[in-house]
Amino acid sequence: MRLARDISAGAVLDQTTALELMQTPESGVLDLVYAASLLRREHFGRRVRLNYLVNLKSGLCQEDCSYCSQALGSQAPILKYSWLEPEEAVRQAEAGIAGGAARVCLVASGRGPMDRDIERVFGIAEALKHEHPDVELCACLGLLRDGQAERLAEAGIDAYNHNINTAESHHDDIVSTHHYSDRVETIEKVKRAGVSACSGLIVGLGETDAQIVEALLALRDLGADSIPINFLVPFDGTPRAGQWELTPLRCLTIVALARLACPDTEIRLAGGREIHLRGLQGMALHAANSLFLGDYLTAEGQAAADDLALIADNGFTVEDHPLEPVGAGAAAVARARGAGTAVLPNA
Ligand code: SF4
Repeated sequence: MRLARDISAGAVLDQTTALELMQTPESGVLDLVYAASLLRREHFGRRVRLNYLVNLKSGLCQEDCSYCSQALGSQAPILKYSWLEPEEAVRQAEAGIAGGAARVCLVASGRGPMDRDIERVFGIAEALKHEHPDVELCACLGLLRDGQAERLAEAGIDAYNHNINTAESHHDDIVSTHHYSDRVETIEKVKRAGVSACSGLIVGLGETDAQIVEALLALRDLGADSIPINFLVPFDGTPRAGQWELTPLRCLTIVALARLACPDTEIRLAGGREIHLRGLQGMALHAANSLFLGDYLTAEGQAAADDLALIADNGFTVEDHPLEPVGAGAAAVARARGAGTAVLPNA
């Protein structure tokens, strides 16, 4: 396909073309995914990178991010706890490593860390790096102050996640306690410290097509090394409860567009992929090259075994972690309902 060929040859997706692609009619989305898949294969082959989240501190946040179940005023029925003990944090991380995660993401709720929080994460990172030197560590602790990114780098933290979440032009509609520029400033601090910048999106927040394009091109310009794409999980008890505006094909379009805009960047399917992409998760892996294994910060994901089956069934392999051969699936169950029985049919 010409678009993928041009991008492969160095063409950069411009805003006008990106918006046209974002508005691809449903009948054309497969062509878009095909173009994205050519670039995905060129840069990442058949590999899928697995990431694993450990929520070091859950809920109890004073910020008012309207999409977040951990925010000030949220009544969402989530787990709330203060910092995990370091041994427990390591134990949780090792579950993900055993499951095939190449990167562990150490996350804590809150506006940003105190210096003593950085030291806690320092200890956890040191212990993990000592036992698992090949596993990448990412921290996600909120807005950073001067010197904190450097200290995390000393601890062996490879990457820092701080999502821009949405377009600058939409940012103040989703949170009032900090600004888009605060987020960008933290990403710049991370990069200056020599730490890999991970920054992505949450889609389904009432943004327009043009704002999705604006956000993706901003991430490209910021030089994010990895881009997680979250799909809003509209928890009851949050201001976004009941906000179901995404369709699987729209999600797929966004993921494919991310690949076309950022052809050699790690594009990750993140929170909400199961409930929004639904049957198209496998298709999305032909554009994305990375996903979170298992559960998210406050929401459960699908079973980790199903994640591995999704990867294998679509012809991909887990990066740095050979997959066990996938069996023939669940044993057949003889029908015992519907015609020929007195039991209600499956319809
Ligand atoms: S996204 Fe982070 S800063 Fe915002 S409310 Fe949630 S935990 Fe707090």
